Amino acid sequence: MLTVYSEDCRAHHGRAELNEGQLVPCFENPSRTDMVLDRLRAVDLGEIVAPRDFGEGPLRAVHDDGFVDFLKTCWADWTAAGRDWDAIPFTFGKRGMRNDRVPQDIDGRISFYGMDAGTPITAGTWTAATAAANCALTATEQVAGGLRAAFAACRPPGHHAAADYYGGYCFLNNAAIAAQAARTNGAQRVSILDVDYHHGNGTQTIFYDRDDVQFLSLHADPTVEYPYFLGHADETGAGAGEGFNHNFPLPWGTDWARYEEALTEALRRIRGYRPDVLVVSLGLDTFENDPISKFRLSSDRYPQLGALLAGLKVPTVFVLEGGYAVEALGTNAVGVLQGFEDA
Ligand SMILES: [Zn+2]
Repeated sequence: MLTVYSEDCRAHHGRAELNEGQLVPCFENPSRTDMVLDRLRAVDLGEIVAPRDFGEGPLRAVHDDGFVDFLKTCWADWTAAGRDWDAIPFTFGKRGMRNDRVPQDIDGRISFYGMDAGTPITAGTWTAATAAANCALTATEQVAGGLRAAFAACRPPGHHAAADYYGGYCFLNNAAIAAQAARTNGAQRVSILDVDYHHGNGTQTIFYDRDDVQFLSLHADPTVEYPYFLGHADETGAGAGEGFNHNFPLPWGTDWARYEEALTEALRRIRGYRPDVLVVSLGLDTFENDPISKFRLSSDRYPQLGALLAGLKVPTVFVLEGGYAVEALGTNAVGVLQGFEDA
């Protein structure tokens, strides 16, 4: 399988994130893709190529212009305020407050566009986020050109980023950008299957009122898990998008048997939709030893997951999302891809 990877994805490296009331080293860091690349090379899965630069057009096809401009200039504005440490918001708009006026001050703007205090912006964030999007776009282009599948081994991840906010370690929504590009380039219907442990709130929001992109997410129940404010089963889409959004919230402790049941139902709905392209938001934080998650999938299940996805027989773009058990991340991510290839 073809892999697309850029060294620029290493440029984003936050010092610390707020976790359980403490500043701790960032779980989402460059060692993640290092592990995936090491494993890809160890098993010789296929060629690894650098992405092409698609410019800002495909980013702005999914994201709000003001938001993209903010991401681009945030670090310069932050350092201009005399700071050389990570940029993190400290206040969040609440019920009854205004959300139609973007503050001018950098602390106000970062709070307007930021979703949480776990996602620092650093000197290299824009470089890495755009490189990640280019990886996803290049993989999509290759699949459109006839490949059965391609893998964007990118970071930072994307699925928590919506049209106009970032968070959950995500800045630009790589999977959504890939899906939109596939549509722009002629695919009639695109399915996005999000198998990350956390709900893909950003992706859901972006396509919620559309019927040309189906979104399905298997994730920990937001009643007890981040992102808390989206991801329930009764969120089924709006307007033209009614019936094209499918959430499968699962309890803490979910094992393979329970997971496979939900996955089987998700795959059934994808078959019914008959997509031209499948984008997989490939999170590996469903792994039993993930440090921030509470599902119980063992490493030997990931090839099975890949084989089930291959059974759809749809051209497939894999986009790396979460997964923080760094030592096992390579094995698990590549396990999915090998299972897909061998099916
Ligand atoms: Zn996750």
